Amino acid sequence: MHNLVILGASGSIGQSTLKVLRHNPGRWQVLALTAARSVDAMLRDCLEFSPRFAVMVDEAAARELAAQLKTHGSATRVLSGPAALCDVAAHPDAHSVMAAIVGAAGLAPTMAAVRAGKRILLANKEALVMSGAFFMEAVREHGAELLPIDSEHNAIFQCLPEAIQRQPGFCDLAGAGISKILLTGSGGPFRYTDIGELAHVTPAQAIAHPNWSMGAKISVDSATMINKGLEYIEARWLFNAAPEQIQVVIHPQSVIHSMVQYKDGSVLAQLGNPDMCTPIAHALAYPARVESGVEPLDFFSVGEFSFIRPDYERYPCLQLAMHACQQGQAATTALNAANEEAVAAFLAERIGFMDIARVNEATMLALGGTDVGSLDDLIALDGAARARAHNLIEELS
Ligand code: NAD
Ligand code: MG
Repeated sequence: MHNLVILGASGSIGQSTLKVLRHNPGRWQVLALTAARSVDAMLRDCLEFSPRFAVMVDEAAARELAAQLKTHGSATRVLSGPAALCDVAAHPDAHSVMAAIVGAAGLAPTMAAVRAGKRILLANKEALVMSGAFFMEAVREHGAELLPIDSEHNAIFQCLPEAIQRQPGFCDLAGAGISKILLTGSGGPFRYTDIGELAHVTPAQAIAHPNWSMGAKISVDSATMINKGLEYIEARWLFNAAPEQIQVVIHPQSVIHSMVQYKDGSVLAQLGNPDMCTPIAHALAYPARVESGVEPLDFFSVGEFSFIRPDYERYPCLQLAMHACQQGQAATTALNAANEEAVAAFLAERIGFMDIARVNEATMLALGGTDVGSLDDLIALDGAARARAHNLIEELS
């Protein structure tokens, strides 16, 4: 039996992963589920999937979950605190680790899984954006296997030759006849909104994504399109792509999940309904194919595909992220940290929607040139960027 650890089990990706497991009974055994503090969701899922371990980052939530599980006669052992996330991610009996914690908080447990040489199903793009070359070097050094969950990167992966799929982070795209990665994105809920109105949009409007159902942070990131920018950086590392080998294309229908253009003029694309269960099922079973529970694509109901060039006046965060990718690791780490703080402040209604770009740009300008020679330097820079972003948020709110 293949043992699976799900980091961030109570979230949108974690829940979709459990959905795929329900469609494939007996194929995967859940070794551990983890969450920050959602007792009810964890109780329900522990009773259904009987993991050996349940980790709650919050100690009070862990005590509550343990008490509730006991009354149900469950044998699941409850652990607490951030170190326990790393312990289960690197557990000797774990084969695959679904990295689906949101934000930089996912870096340490994901790295623990990498260092233990696991098969990593990577949803937590912020971990890779924050640590870039250090993360990819650790993957190589420890013989970990990296399978992208982000729908675009999963699509790109599926369109690459099999030889490249085995070591995507260190491949030679041009040598394999590839001229470009075409990274598609829907443009989010505000793609047709008057630019002048954007300063006044509310968190509820920003979270209401037209095509995908996702956690709050990535939904806001999709509205600013920094999500596409983070994905641009993610693609740079996952596929060893130079920034000029990646092009962002707005595709409002979200049916083409991304494409790879070859030098002979061929373009390979992966298509499907916009449901994360497809990339999750693909990565879980790779190289086999299993049921995901996703409805087959009906081309007649889709009708038409359209494509739009991104407008950086509407999406300044997308351009910032592309600049950060050109500038280098410190800039991407600072930008990612600032953005996490700015999105949290926007969701708490402390700053406006367009202030997110202001906080991000100012933080990146101030700290994007910092010298970073190690992962510890990056973690320190992440902290400094958050402090800087906090000050800016104070001034704006
Ligand atoms: P979510 O907010 O729905 O869930 C986040 C999970 O992380 C929850 O289980 C939560 O308990 C846990 N968590 C939050 N803070 C934590 C902390 N400090 N320590 C430990 N655990 C913590 O988020 P999501 O939408 O499922 O996204 C998860 C990751 O996957 C993100 O990095 C996101 O960018 C990426 N992703 C999501 C989607 C999607 O469709 N939701 C698509 C592509 C990529
Ligand atoms: Mg994506």
